[in-house]
Amino acid sequence: MQLTSGPPTPAGLGYAPPHSSQPPISTSYQSAPQPSFTQAPPPASSAPTQPPPPNAPAASQQYYRGPPPPPQPPFNSALPPTSQQQFLSSAPPPPSQQTFPPSFSSSIPPPSCAPAPPVSQSQQPFSTPQPHFSSAPPPVSQPGFPSGPPPPAQGSFPPQPTPSSSQPGSVPPPGPPPTSVTSGQYPTPIQHQQQPPDSQPSPYHSGPPPPRFQMPPTVNHLPPGPQSPPGPQGPLQQPPSPQTGYPPQQNGAFGQTRSPQAGYPGPYPVQPNYGAPAPAPAPAAPAQKRLDPDAIPSPIQVIEDDKAKTNEPFVTGVRGQAPPLVTTSFHVRDQGNASPRFVRCTAYNMPCTADMAKQSQVPLAAVIKPLATLPPDENPPYMVDHGEGGPIRCNRCKAYMCPYMQFIEGGRRFQCSFCNCVTDVPPHYFQHLDHTGKRVDCYDRPELSLGSYEFLATVDYCKNNKLPQPPAFIFLIDVSYNAVKSGMVSIVCHELKSLLDHLPRENPEVDSVVRVGFVTYNKVLHFYNVKASLAQPQMLVVSDVSDMFVPLLDGFLVNVNESRQVIESLLDQIPEMFADTRETETVFGPVIQAGLEALKAADCAGKLFVFHTSLPIAEAPGKLKNREDKKLIGTDKEKSLFQPQVGFYNNLAKECVAQGCCVDLFLFPNQYVDVATLGVVPVSTGGSVYKYTYFQAQTDQERFLNDLRRDLQKHVGFDAVMRVRTSTGIRATDFFGSFYMSNTTDVELAGLDCDKAITVEFKHDDKLSEETGALMQCAVLYTSCSGQRRLRIHNMAVNCCSQLADLYRNCETDTIINYFSKYAFRGVLSNPTKAVRDTLVNQCAQILACYRKNCASPSSAGQLILPECMKLLPVYLNCVLKSDVLLPGADVSLDDRAYLKQLISCMDVADTHVFFYPRLLPVMKLESGSLPVAVRNSEERLSKGGVYLMETGLHLFLWVGASVQQELLLNLFGTPSFSQIDSSMVRGDASLCSCVGSVVVNT
Ligand SMILES: [Zn+2]
Repeated sequence: MQLTSGPPTPAGLGYAPPHSSQPPISTSYQSAPQPSFTQAPPPASSAPTQPPPPNAPAASQQYYRGPPPPPQPPFNSALPPTSQQQFLSSAPPPPSQQTFPPSFSSSIPPPSCAPAPPVSQSQQPFSTPQPHFSSAPPPVSQPGFPSGPPPPAQGSFPPQPTPSSSQPGSVPPPGPPPTSVTSGQYPTPIQHQQQPPDSQPSPYHSGPPPPRFQMPPTVNHLPPGPQSPPGPQGPLQQPPSPQTGYPPQQNGAFGQTRSPQAGYPGPYPVQPNYGAPAPAPAPAAPAQKRLDPDAIPSPIQVIEDDKAKTNEPFVTGVRGQAPPLVTTSFHVRDQGNASPRFVRCTAYNMPCTADMAKQSQVPLAAVIKPLATLPPDENPPYMVDHGEGGPIRCNRCKAYMCPYMQFIEGGRRFQCSFCNCVTDVPPHYFQHLDHTGKRVDCYDRPELSLGSYEFLATVDYCKNNKLPQPPAFIFLIDVSYNAVKSGMVSIVCHELKSLLDHLPRENPEVDSVVRVGFVTYNKVLHFYNVKASLAQPQMLVVSDVSDMFVPLLDGFLVNVNESRQVIESLLDQIPEMFADTRETETVFGPVIQAGLEALKAADCAGKLFVFHTSLPIAEAPGKLKNREDKKLIGTDKEKSLFQPQVGFYNNLAKECVAQGCCVDLFLFPNQYVDVATLGVVPVSTGGSVYKYTYFQAQTDQERFLNDLRRDLQKHVGFDAVMRVRTSTGIRATDFFGSFYMSNTTDVELAGLDCDKAITVEFKHDDKLSEETGALMQCAVLYTSCSGQRRLRIHNMAVNCCSQLADLYRNCETDTIINYFSKYAFRGVLSNPTKAVRDTLVNQCAQILACYRKNCASPSSAGQLILPECMKLLPVYLNCVLKSDVLLPGADVSLDDRAYLKQLISCMDVADTHVFFYPRLLPVMKLESGSLPVAVRNSEERLSKGGVYLMETGLHLFLWVGASVQQELLLNLFGTPSFSQIDSSMVRGDASLCSCVGSVVVNT
């Protein structure tokens, strides 16, 4: 840093004349930024919203909707035989599992899958007792835990071999071979071999909403296509049957139209087949009858059943008990294990040995959301202060005091349940034991009786042994031509004036201590001095972006209340100042560098809010070129498109993490911006990426502002480090989410907000014991928004089993899907997408085949047997397979895919559930006080006379049938006429519509 104090000198420092000592902003603004604009040619008058970037390569004008991807081969390699057999037999269901009626008969009895057969335990060795942890701490019997941190985790992807595209289905089945195969009836889906229409925008676009077609076209009318290769085949080599576990894949999880079948008349035409089996448009082999979709397990039924049976609070004290589904509303009582709102596991009964785990192929993982928001009727984690010595910990493995620690020798020492080491109890923490060996103050201390709590950290837990400064928020606003013309700049500036009153704070009565700073930029950066003593803000321009520095220290980061007038003046003036800009080029790397340097200079952690529009092609560090190449999609080189274009941002991310500088990126692109590269810093720093393609103030403002308000106000911690400790026998080996890791155990998060989840995978490194179960403790050290250093602790104990049946009885499919999606989406960085899909399908097949072989009652070969807990696994996994990341529709841009990939990486289980299996609500059945039961995600379930709201967690879509009653239309849209519905309206007369992002009209 050349400048450490005072205003910079004009000469020789590479920035335009600073004005810190000059008259008020009204004059300095006129002189300062303008010169830098003079070289930019005027925008084309005929294209006011999109001037041709004068220096942009032609390719940068390429739009998202390029040529469609090459035809994707059908899933022809890896469908598990088991799933192909499911509907072929009518053998009676064995206990604790579900079977399905013959699929290819048209006389299918009523939904056999509806209420699941109750689990009968009489014939199964399900007898693991479930000790109550709090009354009987697990006896400690394992040998010593190796001291120090767990051994290095394995590499990232893939922990298991991923078949290359040329070796479909080559994952060696570690489990039992699938039993038998029926054949000859499995049509090859025809959907990926036709060119999709190119007129459909991605649902991720927020831009000018032409009619959108997000609802799935009819998908179930799939007779065998002419290309179906029937014939006997071996396990794992049959073409998949879209009619069994894997329904046809015409649509993504979002349902955007993929490749309509020949003759498909277009989006939501008034089809003759609503509510009835669709006629087959393509020539079909007559032999096969259409599958009754009701024979497939219904997610809605499973969700409703779980709601119905959950009428008591979920108490966490029972080890190995799976919580209610994420779709069920329930109250949690913390009795010693973390609430499922903080931690959800794929399996609550882990196999004792690595062999069992390998045989079953059930992933062992936990999805941890350390700062999750709790409902108002549940207590946030209590704060525990152990005094100057800091939190009491095990001497060896450093696990924090928790309900699993066993006090011995009259309470003078405690034995660690993670590593068995015995540690002295400090005198100030001593307490007598009762006759059961428990401390008499057990229930007075959160750390001895609860699953989740916080410790006040001491200075030993702080960087440089110094208590942290309060964090700062820096707003960096792109003021290039597109940013101004789209309305983004004025919307942001206007909103910030009121939003700054809602900066995060822990006590609503007290002002936030978060300081703020402002930067605008295009090819150069403009810093603003908003010191309270100034009459007007002052601008300092840095035009040499090759070695970014902050030209002022005093007056850049300020307290909002003290500098309110100057800040408001600045926010009023920014849109005016740049209203006539002709600069179309932007930089990006230097923008983040500027924010980072400002936080470094202030010696604090914080968050950057970057509002950015375009591919940064201006000459500067981190400059990018347009590399979007649709021809690579589906090839072995496709993975390169997900990798960052330059290494610059990885290095920058590392620096940001070291400073506790979290970056939230709001993108407003009109063309390719390379989200895969621009997202590197946000993803590595625990930040978020938001994307508003073709942003238009009128239609997208509300969505953007809601995102911004929530993002700015939400509970967030800074400069965080997460560590997961486990009991002997398992260890955390892999992590998925938005963070940075410089070693194999510490998950570093420059920022960690209440919405971010981290998925942690566990592997065996020894045998587990049924008696003691398996323990994990997640500790997150972070700085609160008030500047307090804290440790948040989440403990979780699960059972261990020596019978595979117990594993299958205590799984959670929603969490397994969360793991699978993150695993797969990371896999596209280093593998062809087809190989990733094949891996998923194979693993699913292994899971079910292992169940069939080891747990199910004998049944005919043609029957798929699904464990009760996993009966939706094939359906949900299919949704992952069809997602835009793994199987993009032609209208889905590379940026959309990169965006989704990073978005899913930090989702919790509830998020991934609704994302992959959206909620479809029949609005016409809405009654006051309660939501109607959702409809299964199939176009066939939509009635022409209905209106449906589809929620994905990311978007809301309203689907309006062509025969809707006039009264309903009038209520919703203010018009009685179907043809007069304004599909661009984002706010209707009915309150339900107020948040609908787009209206899909079935014309
Ligand atoms: Zn220990």
